[in-house]
Amino acid sequence: MSKKLLFNFLAVWALSVLALAACGVPVTQSDVVTEAPAIVTVTEVPTADETKLVGISMPTKTSSRWISDGESMVKEFEAMGYKTDLQFADDDIPNQLAQIGNMIAKGADVLVIAAIDGKTLTDALAKAKDNGVLVIAYDRLLVNSENVDYYATFDNFGVGVIMGQQIEAGLDLKNRPGPFNIELFGGSPDDTNAFYFYDGAMSVLQPYIDSGKLVVQSGQMGMDKVSILRWDGIVAQSRMENLLNTYYTDKRVDAVLSPYDGLSIGIISALKGVGYGAPEQPMPVITGQDAEVGSIKAMIAGEQTYTVFKDTRELARQTAAMVDAALKGEAVPVNDTKTYDNGVKIVPSYLLTPYSIDITNYRKYLIDSGYYTEDQLK
Ligand code: BGC
Repeated sequence: MSKKLLFNFLAVWALSVLALAACGVPVTQSDVVTEAPAIVTVTEVPTADETKLVGISMPTKTSSRWISDGESMVKEFEAMGYKTDLQFADDDIPNQLAQIGNMIAKGADVLVIAAIDGKTLTDALAKAKDNGVLVIAYDRLLVNSENVDYYATFDNFGVGVIMGQQIEAGLDLKNRPGPFNIELFGGSPDDTNAFYFYDGAMSVLQPYIDSGKLVVQSGQMGMDKVSILRWDGIVAQSRMENLLNTYYTDKRVDAVLSPYDGLSIGIISALKGVGYGAPEQPMPVITGQDAEVGSIKAMIAGEQTYTVFKDTRELARQTAAMVDAALKGEAVPVNDTKTYDNGVKIVPSYLLTPYSIDITNYRKYLIDSGYYTEDQLK
């Protein structure tokens, strides 16, 4: 029996008890006990204005951004009067499926999901729809399913464009003749974002590659060659080591396109391992994403040149506003109804703005805004 049915049933029962009392029929304790259905032993009896439950399924804790996303959402939803169930899936798909299954079984009214692999949740989402659950794809698109109501994310192509522009500025490609050597890294191929990031970056870099100002010595281009499954920094490190050992023993790498700080840290380790970072062999221009603590520290140490900041507090606020509007039957704030085709439908989306971060502005965006404290970056 659903909570709502149970509530109705108990309400009718309680009203009949009250009606008996009102008619002067004496109601004794034993009447109540014998008349009451066995199911009253359930301790959590919902009230008429039942608090809605939001299940929040985050992919992993290995990257601090998802912890921050999860915690910010709990804060936002609870401030709006919702209950929350926050789970992290340890980058393990069966784990995420089980957690989402539990949320549905617990009677979640809403699921907010950042998928590990956006195409693995089709059955779970069908079940969610059967139960009348509102489904929000959070930052990562849920694909191959009609049962996705909204998508809350950042301008993912724009994130990639920022990375391309960072390399353009870092190498001063508009003014210097080059040629410069670059290597390219892509994100996880099971995350549609990775393709938007790569395509956005290449929209800036490809003309320089075509003109010969940028040279990919390895020749490895395209997501099929440069992607890193599950955004794994160790894998990025070993790919970078291989590239350095194979193509750069007598050449310098001048720039590395990295779409995530966790990969950048691995790439930096590989570079340091062969002597980059010394005064006579400066680090190449290196990008990143998420403004993670480790990468801001690396930026302060002169090792990572750039990152992209996506304010997870804003994304959490936006998501809560979208859920609240949808549940109240109000117009849901979206600003993109064209871009995010999940293979079955175009998912109405809200895209927030990403920001380019370097040594000159990290304080303004990250410390002055309260995202980090000064101490966290020491
Ligand atoms: C997110 C990025 C993040 C990456 C790795 C992507 O889906 O959009 O912000 O860097 O996953 O966690």
